[in-house]
Amino acid sequence: MRVRACALNHLDLWERRGLPHVAIPMPHISGSDVAGEIVGAAAPDVVPGRRVMLQPGMSCGRCAACLSGRDNECARYEVLGYRNHPGGYAEYVKVPVQNLVPIPDEISFVEAAAFPLTFLTAWHMLITRAQLKRGDDVLVLAAGSGVGQAAIQVAFLHGARVFATAGTPEKLARARALGAYEVIDHRRQDIAEEIARLTNKRGVDVVIEHVGEATWAKSVRAMARGGRLVTCGATTGANGALNLQALFAKQLSIMGSYMGTKGELMRAVRFFFAGQLKPVVDCTYPLADAAVAQQRMEESGQFGKIVLEV
Ligand SMILES: [Zn+2]
Repeated sequence: MRVRACALNHLDLWERRGLPHVAIPMPHISGSDVAGEIVGAAAPDVVPGRRVMLQPGMSCGRCAACLSGRDNECARYEVLGYRNHPGGYAEYVKVPVQNLVPIPDEISFVEAAAFPLTFLTAWHMLITRAQLKRGDDVLVLAAGSGVGQAAIQVAFLHGARVFATAGTPEKLARARALGAYEVIDHRRQDIAEEIARLTNKRGVDVVIEHVGEATWAKSVRAMARGGRLVTCGATTGANGALNLQALFAKQLSIMGSYMGTKGELMRAVRFFFAGQLKPVVDCTYPLADAAVAQQRMEESGQFGKIVLEV
């Protein structure tokens, strides 16, 4: 595939810095969120010139998990651009045909590249893991992050009442515009206390966590009885304490989530193509300025996705 756009993810930063117990083969090409045009024959229905975006998950396709439609539980599951599959910070990328998702003409390459990883992650967390129900109260941390902006939209789409956190007035206003019912300034307000106040001390049914150590205790405290907390990341650190009395007495569920299945992306994509889910693009850079783009992500100045254009 000829790459036209590739969105950044926090994973790109982790790869570059290095992760304990993770071997990154060299040379390495990052980039998990890719859109472009087919070159060469792919499949009877995916001809040269066809505009596509890519499923970011790679799996064996033959194991029980894969064949049960849970490909993100495959023992050989990998994210495009992470370790053994060179990614989209490139002019060309090669993927299995089952990773191709044709896109309609009205969707730009930049928008298409901004969609897959974060919306797939948010969809799997909310719909599959947390079993979100219409009317649930949902707390989404870090509205300006890729997962945050996607989770607000997916939760709102499914009839949830969304509470979102961010660190600047501008980001809080944008979170409201995406569907957040109430917003919390995490630099000035205590998240757990604000949730208690806003829900008349009940707490929220679902917490979407990915911040980690800095917010973990407050995220757990914000849960209602029977609440579900789903985490897909630990940006500020991987250690989180848990009060076991609160866990059993309040019947809490704490769940991990990693990416999502190919089928889930195909389902989310319907809402994307219909205009009901819209990836928020913060800004774009040419591929040559990938370092500048990563710098912007490290400084957390963005709201939504940073995209490289090739
Ligand atoms: Zn498999």
